[in-house]
Amino acid sequence: MPAFEEARRIVLERVGHLGCEVAPLLGAVGRVLAADQVAPWDMPQWDNSAMDGYAVRAADCADPKGLSVAGFLPAGQPAVEELGPGTAIRIMTGAPLPPGADAVVPIENAEERAGLIVATRRPVAGDHIRRKGGDIREGETVLAAGTVIGPAEVSLLSSISRASVPVVRRARVAILSTGDELLEPGEPLAAGKIYNSNALALAAAALRAGATPLVLPIARDDREALRTQLVEGLRADVLVTTAGVSVGDRDLVREVLRDLPVQEVFWKVDIQPGRPVAFALSGATPIFSLPGNPVAALLTFEMFVRPALRRMMGHVRPLDVPLRARLGEAVTPRRDRVTLMRVRLERRGDQIVASSAGSQATGFLRTIVSADGVAIIPAGPETVAAGSAVDVYALRDECLTWGA
Ligand code: AMP
Ligand code: MG
Repeated sequence: MPAFEEARRIVLERVGHLGCEVAPLLGAVGRVLAADQVAPWDMPQWDNSAMDGYAVRAADCADPKGLSVAGFLPAGQPAVEELGPGTAIRIMTGAPLPPGADAVVPIENAEERAGLIVATRRPVAGDHIRRKGGDIREGETVLAAGTVIGPAEVSLLSSISRASVPVVRRARVAILSTGDELLEPGEPLAAGKIYNSNALALAAAALRAGATPLVLPIARDDREALRTQLVEGLRADVLVTTAGVSVGDRDLVREVLRDLPVQEVFWKVDIQPGRPVAFALSGATPIFSLPGNPVAALLTFEMFVRPALRRMMGHVRPLDVPLRARLGEAVTPRRDRVTLMRVRLERRGDQIVASSAGSQATGFLRTIVSADGVAIIPAGPETVAAGSAVDVYALRDECLTWGA
């Protein structure tokens, strides 16, 4: 039985990158760029004005009488006419600088006197000009392969007229819930039955990881039906199943997988909750068999499946960076396994404090709803004191960067 971090390392070692595809810019958000992007031209493309004002020759502003205004240059038009001596051209921010001009006098530093323009503050050559190539040089790599596309990258790619970019494909994740006791949400209640919490919850977690979920119909605890569904699920890039991996009479998932050409890499990890998690490979296709309990299913997805998906989708750092938090209260660890403790996070001064989000009983869904993250409590014989440092993985995007 591997330890927690070792199991995560094993998973990452065994999954590879997916191929790439060209996506329109908005479809590329959150995804990983698959090729370097090179600037096709200087940025800015030409010297231009950084302010609304007047394009001048700085030296001409020494004349106290002022300059006559010889024209108007809005943004969006090329500057063709040369600036004549003793004149100014009214210019808007972003407009190309007319030939001959060497400075811009901002409107707020200019006064109109007797039909002429006087600079109230003497400009020097270069004032308020954005130089050609001052930001980015033609041929420069502006974004390297491996970059995650966000709003800033979209801005830059737009500015070099890239309407679409090569990105690593999204992983398609088949999600298969198993169990005779399950009803789909919306079906009429029936004696002894419970609703399938896992399928859509894991689909949501897959979406949050940037993958594409494919929810399969519930598989019943029957070898043949299960086998058919597992084979169907293996057509995706990743197969995630829930339940049927403990040691109960009906825990068939591992058994049926074993009969397919599937190589089990590990079964059971030293964690609580989520111990009976299994990881296997069918060729290059990873299979995660998660426990049925909805809390355990979600936590094991976040800890094992999410990093695998991120690696497959090209993320250079597939593991989330844990926040370094302080325990809000003393915690008694388990002697033999890592505890995945559901915690609420709070910022106090320059520290993040992690406190229990409620009863840690695996069956309590309420605690996962009130949790912001999972604190990793190492196994050990001694109570961990309040205030001790602890790693926390954020379960909510709004907490992901608190500690960064
Ligand atoms: P198992 O892993 O099959 O032993 O299931 C552990 C517990 O999780 C049992 O109480 C199951 O009824 C419950 N369970 C299994 N699958 C689901 C599911 N998809 N949604 C909600 N609860 C489930
Ligand atoms: Mg079961």
